[in-house]
Amino acid sequence: MTKPQFYSIGDARVACVVDTVLDSFTLQQLLPDLHDDDRQLAEEMPKTMAPDGRRVRLSVHSWVIQYRGKTILVDTGAGNDKDRPNARYFDHIRTSYLARLADVGVSPHDVDYVLHTHLHVDHVGWNTMLIDGRCTPTFPNARFIFSAKEYAYFTDPANLNDRNRTSFQVQEDSVRPIVDAGMVDMIEVTGDEVIPGFSFHPTPGHTMHHASIVLESAGVRALFAGDLLHHPIQIRKPELLSVFDPERQKTVESRRWALEYAADHKATWFSSHIPEPSAGRIVRAGEQYSWHFE
Ligand SMILES: [Zn+2]
Repeated sequence: MTKPQFYSIGDARVACVVDTVLDSFTLQQLLPDLHDDDRQLAEEMPKTMAPDGRRVRLSVHSWVIQYRGKTILVDTGAGNDKDRPNARYFDHIRTSYLARLADVGVSPHDVDYVLHTHLHVDHVGWNTMLIDGRCTPTFPNARFIFSAKEYAYFTDPANLNDRNRTSFQVQEDSVRPIVDAGMVDMIEVTGDEVIPGFSFHPTPGHTMHHASIVLESAGVRALFAGDLLHHPIQIRKPELLSVFDPERQKTVESRRWALEYAADHKATWFSSHIPEPSAGRIVRAGEQYSWHFE
């Protein structure tokens, strides 16, 4: 990993803290509808492929924001020591996430808020750590904010199926412990400000109640987009679903909304899975959008 890079969004300072990196999927596995002519375009996009040139590199990370004396995390990676029989690349992994958090000057006790775009396995893992055999909150002073409907969905047995088996397990070891500890503020996702500077916007599709998080400071905006995309080719081709997107129409509508928002507001796009530096700018030319790493 390279030296931490800090971004300024108005008065806020933003940095990426990597949990793990996956070189597990070929482009075709990640983006099953990819046409041959787009595959070459995707492979040529800088920094997005694993060293073998065939597999896609996916980063799993948190964004850490320091703003008005508060420390805020957006999403918390996959976590250590978690039992993930149906997601083998996250099964009982051990990463240096906390050391990398320290590299940007943050200890777990410093974290005031954790904001979740959604409640998938690779976004909530560090909410808890295994201590004496128990999943224990990692950030003891934090308030956690996420969609009430997202949590309700992934804890309602009526929604349990093969596709989301891992998501249900994740609630038990990485979300329920913080709920039971009274550390959570579940919200309705309306676009309204939830803590100073931050608002949650509905971007359903990847999950039913997926949200993208906007930070606005001194007239400058950032979009923490969550899993609206997994590879920058989806900016050029917004209709390309990833293998993780169950809902075609909503996914594409949400992606188009976010691309338009980021282009209109010149918002920095902080991605969840594009490899480092993981942040970029969306530029519109006519009907098309393009991605530029920051
Ligand atoms: Zn994800």
